[in-house]
Amino acid sequence: MIKNDSNNPFEELQKQLKDLLKGQNVTINPAIFPSDTSDSAPKPSEPEDPKSASVETIEDPLQQIRDFSLKPKEIVDYLNKYVIEQNEAKKVLSVAICDHYNHVRQCVENPDIQESEYSKQNILLLGPTGVGKTYLMRTIAQLIGVPFIKADATKFSETGYVGSDVEDLVRDLTKSAKGNTELAEYGIVYVDEIDKIANSSSQGGGKDVSGRGVQINLLKLMEDTEVNLFNPTDMMSQMQAMMEMSRGSGGKPKKKTISTKHILFIVSGAFDKLAEDVQKRLHSSKIGFAGTAKPDEEEDICKYLHSAETTDFIDYGFEPEFVGRLPVRVACESLTASNLASILKNSEGSILKQYSNDFKGYDIKLSLSPEAIDTIAKKAHSEKTGARGLMTVFEKVFRDFKYELPSTAIKALDVTSKTVNDPSAELKQLLKDNIHLQSEVLKEDIERFIKDFNQKHGFTLSFNQEASLAIVEESIKSEKTIRSICLDKFKDYEHGLKIISRNSGDQVFEITKANIESPDKELSRWVVKSFNDEKETSVEEI
Ligand code: ADP
Repeated sequence: MIKNDSNNPFEELQKQLKDLLKGQNVTINPAIFPSDTSDSAPKPSEPEDPKSASVETIEDPLQQIRDFSLKPKEIVDYLNKYVIEQNEAKKVLSVAICDHYNHVRQCVENPDIQESEYSKQNILLLGPTGVGKTYLMRTIAQLIGVPFIKADATKFSETGYVGSDVEDLVRDLTKSAKGNTELAEYGIVYVDEIDKIANSSSQGGGKDVSGRGVQINLLKLMEDTEVNLFNPTDMMSQMQAMMEMSRGSGGKPKKKTISTKHILFIVSGAFDKLAEDVQKRLHSSKIGFAGTAKPDEEEDICKYLHSAETTDFIDYGFEPEFVGRLPVRVACESLTASNLASILKNSEGSILKQYSNDFKGYDIKLSLSPEAIDTIAKKAHSEKTGARGLMTVFEKVFRDFKYELPSTAIKALDVTSKTVNDPSAELKQLLKDNIHLQSEVLKEDIERFIKDFNQKHGFTLSFNQEASLAIVEESIKSEKTIRSICLDKFKDYEHGLKIISRNSGDQVFEITKANIESPDKELSRWVVKSFNDEKETSVEEI
């Protein structure tokens, strides 16, 4: 990885620009690059960027850290509103979080505090996908008011050239803190799929140095290090640095690095292979409860993950120092179908709430019978993707309802298990049962078109009864929307009505069946008539 050892972060940019423009007969004026980054004070004559100003003017970005006074049980109370089950994880996490932010608060209040004895409560979360690992941490971060970011370990490469650089994690935290570097230093970084960067050579596979390399890089971050705010290997980032420099920050000099000392790191993974290893260990040590069959079922996997020890992680392919930096370890449980039903019914963040809101946007009330909820939960469970299965099932069940219902008069969608099992048949039936209401909705659509036309062109189209009926019939027959039919039929009316209005002064025009059947012909007739009427009036005047 290129480290920008000199104090000027633009050196690399200058070099890259030179390479880029090589042979193009272009010279780069070194004066456009600030020579010394240590002077980032603003130039008095330059206006402040409103965005950076707003960040700068936050009175005390660390106030929420100074005010931290939550107790573990209060955190669990809050989590219970959102996350169903995972009681052990909630307990362990709430204690770790309280310890961490109590310690951080003391350090913020008293910067001279001796920290050498303190070991950070970085956390290792194990368990299948979609059971709420990320959700737990995201919810906690929201409660405390600290920035949170998540990334997959597999996207990082050792050098940062091919994949991303692990230091980007810390830089992204600043983005999540809306540019507030001070607050970013107390945020939470979540790295998923950590099991995929185990050094597979230790499991008898080939040489896998890159996984080890990423572990070492992550390890450095988890310890106390300073990360450059601008990525020295990324051109865009350097450009941004240059702009920041030339803009200034309107007050105290901006920090150019972020300390990772108080950033909390959470790493997580499914670790299903590790469960097998733990099972073997327990079996060979004849503790007795381990069988020999491969743990396939999620519940079995979770059971063995609870018993994973430091040596298991090292044998799995993790560096001892890396595992050592993750003192808090907890396995999340797999979710049963009844847990999934409970998520739908009780979680504040349930997908059912989201869908209800989506339908509410069209004034449609969504309700699900208890049987419908159970059927959805069972289907979701069979997807074997935890609560994510709920999203898949919802999408399948409601896709066509979301498309069709907003254009109908239907204001209530009552979902039964029949709807869940055969959504398209139920939708067809619902539309059929409500067809008698459809013309009213289409008339409303005509009104909306009239309003739009008036707002855009200043003329009022007044549809008589026959015209409305004709257009409604056409819409039902052709399955086209009123809007698209009207836009097509009246596409030349703006121009024609302007001419007529010039001749006659009229602003309101009655639309009859003739306009619907032959819009252009009728418009031409109106235009010619307006000229003739005008001529007659002029003759009368003479
Ligand atoms: P993972 O365990 O893979 O990190 P997530 O936490 O990202 O899974 O879960 C995906 C989504 O599923 C969450 O955003 C949330 O809506 C829902 N979800 C997962 N587990 C639970 C749970 N235990 N309680 C409530 N919702 C959950």
